[in-house]
Amino acid sequence: MKKLILIITLCTLYSCVNNKKSIEEINVYTKRHYQTDKDLFKKFEIENNIKVNVVKASSDELIERIKTEGNSCPADILITVDAGKLYKAASNNLLQKLDVDEINKNILPQLKDKNGFWIPITYRARVIVYNPKNVKKEELLTYEDLINEKWKNRILVRSSTNAYNQALLSSILAYNGEEESLKWANNLVTNFAREPKGNDRDQVRAIVAGVGDLAIVNSYYIALLKTSEDSLDRKVGESVQVFFPNQSENNRGSHINISGIGLLKNSPNKRNALKLIKFLTSEYAQNYYTNNSYEYPVLSNVSPSNIISEWGDFKIDTLDLNELGINRKKAVDIFQKSKWN
Ligand code: FE
Repeated sequence: MKKLILIITLCTLYSCVNNKKSIEEINVYTKRHYQTDKDLFKKFEIENNIKVNVVKASSDELIERIKTEGNSCPADILITVDAGKLYKAASNNLLQKLDVDEINKNILPQLKDKNGFWIPITYRARVIVYNPKNVKKEELLTYEDLINEKWKNRILVRSSTNAYNQALLSSILAYNGEEESLKWANNLVTNFAREPKGNDRDQVRAIVAGVGDLAIVNSYYIALLKTSEDSLDRKVGESVQVFFPNQSENNRGSHINISGIGLLKNSPNKRNALKLIKFLTSEYAQNYYTNNSYEYPVLSNVSPSNIISEWGDFKIDTLDLNELGINRKKAVDIFQKSKWN
């Protein structure tokens, strides 16, 4: 009998230990909605035996949720597709500092948060794509030049309520000031080929449909179109060319933004969170991102995928990416004053 009790006790203990092991977890609040992230989380789960629980919503919704949940917020990390939103989370006192060099020493210096609150995981450029049948590469110069009369009725871009456009205008604000930025937004509208509608990919489709000649979009969408399962989209991707604006010697470079992670102040599973952040910035994950979501890797020792390398190297705007958050309110105000819906 004693022996039986001992065996039962040992079994219970064993299953307790095992259960404890199996409930290791991390809670992720993310704006990203890509298959690449799903794949990487799966791999991390298998390798580390840590369950990754994901909540997806817009960055603003997630930030509000974190604020409302307060001390009982279950989330460990916040992932956004915009440094401006991470700046917002940090300004709301929701993030804790991270030692970027401890995460990965090879993270490109120009992508780091100088305040130490967030870690970049990918970056992307907001580029100009054009129909080579109607536009010569030599005609293209800068974001600022898009207000030139020669582009009348030829430009396609999505709504100004979109974060990608708000981040772009925030960068223009940082360089050109309020008055010039308002002028830019107003005059760009007069060059629109149509009222803004659809997402970035829809602008490229509209070029090929002959609605306009050039579009302002994020770089990875061109590679996603080129590699799409949809043959029409593949054709769309093949029919346009990519141009990186503001490249001349004395110009600032093309506007970029990061996808990045903030560690939440009340992270209940901090050890696991740090493990995941290290994993997502590892060479393995960086290669996986660039070859599947076609964003640029954030490590100096990982090369961009072939399909995006074809567009060539380009000078990136090295503006402190927190400016994309600092100037956001002003940018939104300017868009509201302009006729860019
Ligand atoms: Fe996107």
